[in-house]
Amino acid sequence: MQGQFQPRRRLVIVRLFEGPVLPRPGTRHRTRDETWSRDREGVDEVVVCSSCHNILTSVEERIAINQAHIHTCRNPHGLVFQIGCYARAPGCQSNGIPTAEFSWFPPYRWQVAVCSGCRQHLGWHFTGDGFFYGLITRRIQVCSG
Ligand SMILES: [Zn+2]
Repeated sequence: MQGQFQPRRRLVIVRLFEGPVLPRPGTRHRTRDETWSRDREGVDEVVVCSSCHNILTSVEERIAINQAHIHTCRNPHGLVFQIGCYARAPGCQSNGIPTAEFSWFPPYRWQVAVCSGCRQHLGWHFTGDGFFYGLITRRIQVCSG
């Protein structure tokens, strides 16, 4: 019974070419221009698990879903998560069978994504016409590689 009466919205997925949306703890605020030149100099910035520092993905994998990289989403239990969208996250493992129930990005289905290092729940793996990861911003950190 899920989803039949929902209008199918087309997801807009674009690569982000500009600086980090996420604040980097312990670093000075940088302007977009500074970030841009840093990135172009080839400084590798990686996204790690905040618990075990397992490398999950890279800042270059950030994407915008429906015009935004960051989304604030509420689950059926009333818990609110702020997630950032990434095209790939090789340091995550997906658990469970993909389901469309309560999907925040219909018609995409979701699975729970956990850290392959410490198994902490880091977000969700969305699959449909392609795939992406929504990672909980409070459970990840951006580090210079
Ligand atoms: Zn971890």
